Amino acid sequence: MPVSKRRPFKRPRHVPATDYEVVIVGAGAAGLSAALILGRCRRRVLLCDGGRTRNHFSPAVHGFLSRDGIKPQELLQLGHGQLKPYATVEQRQNCVNTAYKDPETGTFHLTLDSGREVTTRKIILATGVTDILPTIEGMHELWGRGVLHCPYCHGYEICDQPVAVYGTDKSVAGFALLISRWSKNVAVCTDGWTSMSEHARHRLQRHGITIHEQPIRRLVGKRNHQLRHVEFKDGSMLTRHAIFIHPSQKQRSDLAAQLGCRVLQRSGAVWVDKRIQTSVFGVYAAGDTTPAAQQALVAAAEGAQAAISCNEQLTREECA
Ligand SMILES: Cc1cc2nc3c(=O)[nH]c(=O)nc-3n(C[C@H](O)[C@H](O)[C@H](O)COP(=O)(O)OP(=O)(O)OC[C@H]3O[C@@H](n4cnc5c(N)ncnc54)[C@H](O)[C@@H]3O)c2cc1C
Repeated sequence: MPVSKRRPFKRPRHVPATDYEVVIVGAGAAGLSAALILGRCRRRVLLCDGGRTRNHFSPAVHGFLSRDGIKPQELLQLGHGQLKPYATVEQRQNCVNTAYKDPETGTFHLTLDSGREVTTRKIILATGVTDILPTIEGMHELWGRGVLHCPYCHGYEICDQPVAVYGTDKSVAGFALLISRWSKNVAVCTDGWTSMSEHARHRLQRHGITIHEQPIRRLVGKRNHQLRHVEFKDGSMLTRHAIFIHPSQKQRSDLAAQLGCRVLQRSGAVWVDKRIQTSVFGVYAAGDTTPAAQQALVAAAEGAQAAISCNEQLTREECA
């Protein structure tokens, strides 16, 4: 039988009628992976994405099993392409602006930026996060190439190169010691913050890490957006291949808040249980949105888990 003839199951009468069984918001690694599993379950799915993924500034995705070093755009194209045989998955380039749960039926109503309104039995939020970079000239321009955040993603590429680690609180010492596993030439830049404890200073010194406390004027990059040097306000310069930062983050979308999902106070991440369900029944969250490690492969795994949990819950409701 041709693949496109594999229709979804007929809805049992006691199950509320909705446009879709699952709406997945966000088509990064998490959302695409969820859509693949649900397509294979013959679920009626709407996959919406209204923008770019978090890593689109980066030249490569590293550490993704079987795809190490692939361009972010290429990974997404593969993911979208592999959804094509699954006729029950509809892909749309739309932002989902609003979502609420109908308390009577337990179904969800969503509004897309096109103005279209859709209903669904379950939602998977795979909307990711936004990085908030320090306001220093050059940070945004070099982000993803000369300004890096994750040694598991980029550490191997800067092995044994001179690198800087930026931080204006006590967490900078631990971060610099972590980076020192990849390079023995690490300099901490605290951009005017001078309250590092004596204990932390000694630890850094013991591992050959230098400390530069003067305020930074700007980051100067090369044409290929790698770092050339850090320029300080006192006129001095530090030649480095890259600078690691630990940016703060916010949720890319406020849909979790609109739906009343519990959010962790410190990180702002959306809380999920072991089935990747949020505190709101029927709403699942996967990928960088949740507290798990922020890696593309982990996001894909969470997306798959969310899809399995959704399908099993839908089945329980249908077979009641
Ligand atoms: C510079 C950089 C380099 C990185 N390098 C690596 C690496 O080498 N290896 C690695 O494993 N990880 C890397 N990461 C981390 C990786 O990018 C993330 O872990 C991964 O993208 C998370 O996938 P996700 O699907 O959760 O979110 P995302 O990939 O960010 O996808 C979320 C999607 O949701 C969409 N969206 C948001 N809100 C809405 C809405 N309301 N309606 C519709 N769509 C919406 C967004 O447009 C986006 O496309 C890197 C991150 C950065 C910043």
